[in-house]
Amino acid sequence: MSDEKKRILVTRSSMPPYEEFAEMIRPLWDSAWLTNMGELHKSLERKLAEYLKTKHLLLFVNGHSALEMAVQALGLSGEVITTPFSFASTTHAIVRNGCTPVFADIREEDYTLDPDRVEELITEKTTAILPVHVYGNLCQVERLEEIAKKHHLKVLYDAAHAFGVEKNGRGAVTYGDAAMLSFHATKVYHTIEGGAVAFQDPAFTQVLKDLKNFGITDEEHVQYVGGNAKMNEFQAAMGLCNLRHVDEEIEKRRKVCERYREHLEGVPGLKLRTSQPGVKENYAYFPVVFDGFKKNRDEVKAALEAEGIGSRKYFYPLINDYECYRDRYSSKDTPVAKYMADRVLTLPLFASLELEDVDRICRIILS
Ligand SMILES: *Cc1c(COP(=O)(O)O)cnc(C)c1O
Repeated sequence: MSDEKKRILVTRSSMPPYEEFAEMIRPLWDSAWLTNMGELHKSLERKLAEYLKTKHLLLFVNGHSALEMAVQALGLSGEVITTPFSFASTTHAIVRNGCTPVFADIREEDYTLDPDRVEELITEKTTAILPVHVYGNLCQVERLEEIAKKHHLKVLYDAAHAFGVEKNGRGAVTYGDAAMLSFHATKVYHTIEGGAVAFQDPAFTQVLKDLKNFGITDEEHVQYVGGNAKMNEFQAAMGLCNLRHVDEEIEKRRKVCERYREHLEGVPGLKLRTSQPGVKENYAYFPVVFDGFKKNRDEVKAALEAEGIGSRKYFYPLINDYECYRDRYSSKDTPVAKYMADRVLTLPLFASLELEDVDRICRIILS
């Protein structure tokens, strides 16, 4: 196959050097301790809390379980205000806990929940806000905190996209009552599958630890209706290896994003993500909004596909248009989110993406 026709997927998992991973898992053959909070698990928990600048952090088998259990640990009930411009997980975690999602619209600037729309939707049944740091863009954290304080609501962030993001040196995951992280294979940082809940109040430590282990408190006490969401030692080993390289990986992503910008910035009909003041970015995604470009989003996606290049309508469809929700909700109620979902395309972005491939992808888009 010639280089010009090389297939490029929208993402590709970061892999640590094989020898490093082999070295990391070798002790498991002596200890035969494979899961249930082993040595690698403990070590990763400590190192991640430090890296992400959070007081407390607990690991989970995946991000979705972490989010479901965070909703449960915070004791949410009634209505939870959230965004339809996210991955299925965000709303499902609310519904699977017996709560009712209420969809507020997003901001055009950064695709995150619009605090003004949130405030309009608060009723006496509202117990929490569940915003998403979309593409690593930080939500309006101060405004949301203000609103939550005023109305006595909890704030639980879906920070699946915000690994390593900071605002003026403060870790993104330290905002709100708790924040969920995903370490899925496709994310900036991964543990194959994996996730975490970060929080600042030690009161949540025991309940979250128990929830991921069937609600078992000790040998003779089962205090909560928990599940099984423990991260195993092989996942933790992958996480420890990847953590050593994540800064270099993010730097490589930055270079890829810069190259995209060189080609696409200022092109009429294309809108790129804008940086937020004081925010350290993680270059998780490269979304482009096609509005008034010579081709629409779907035509560009098809043109890339024809050349063997993957891209993703992320997020499309909106959650309030899903088959399982659309009888009770409508994307007409969230027009900005609808506008974005119909026009946004995320381009291939991973640390090992060659800059020449970025050039080629841009040539296809612009021709
Ligand atoms: C990836 C993702 C999740 C789910 O995380 P998993 O680790 O795959 O369970 C939730 N929300 C958002 C916004 C995500 O991107």
